[in-house]
Amino acid sequence: MNQSNNKKMIGLDLGSTAAKMVLFHDGKIKETKAIASYKYEDFVNQLPDDKFLFSTGYFRKNVEFDLSCTEITAAKYGVTHLLGEGHQIDVLIDIGGQDTKIINIATNDFYLNDKCSAGTGAFLEFMAKYFGSTVEELGEMHLKANGEKVQINSTCSVFAMSEVISYMVEKIPVQVVIAGIHYSFARRIAQLVPKNVNRIGLFGGTALNTGVVHALADVLNVKIGDGLVVIDPPQFVNGIGAILYGVKNYFK
Ligand code: ADP
Repeated sequence: MNQSNNKKMIGLDLGSTAAKMVLFHDGKIKETKAIASYKYEDFVNQLPDDKFLFSTGYFRKNVEFDLSCTEITAAKYGVTHLLGEGHQIDVLIDIGGQDTKIINIATNDFYLNDKCSAGTGAFLEFMAKYFGSTVEELGEMHLKANGEKVQINSTCSVFAMSEVISYMVEKIPVQVVIAGIHYSFARRIAQLVPKNVNRIGLFGGTALNTGVVHALADVLNVKIGDGLVVIDPPQFVNGIGAILYGVKNYFK
């Protein structure tokens, strides 16, 4: 990493829901942190002076960066750093809080769903709230359903919620309803994925939900770790990518 070695490298991924910070030193990830995006200035105020700052995400231009790039560029750099050059991923799915991005690496196409909350993390946050739980708990509840799930047909969050309430009236176990919610979510995402792809990379904060990962693999009829690879750490892929993009392009 040439002359950049002496200073700390910070990647800030300032997304619409969460602000993520990645600290790199000597070419290694030393620290990662996420907070609500409206508090992103807290991150910036705590940063050391001897740093290079590389930003990406919705709010990326609101900070004094050394270099910034779009989330699409950051994603490609992040995935290549984490999985290596020969990763053989054709399509990336980034499920964030307010939007979902589908990046076709093979064709260099990109699709953004930010119009409808039903295929974004906000949908699951809305559902978790109804059950008095948190998004962190949804994955475990899904696994407790042991493969059972209800069918939720509505593609709109508000109408999907009416279906959920009807199932609760029928006394269907909560975990079975939650599994149904994840399947409905996964079908929505799967519609956006191009056909005939070999390997899909999944990341974004919502990929921390194992229920989403299992449902998506099932709907896409692929195996986790093979046809569907969760890129770890899922919420920090773009922050890492921003640094790698910076290293490559700032120190030319
Ligand atoms: P953005 O970049 O769009 O701000 P992120 O990629 O940071 O979004 O993802 C934010 C989403 O991830 C939120 O909807 C949040 O609820 C969800 N999320 C964060 N942590 C977890 C977790 N541990 N389990 C499930 N969902 C999570």
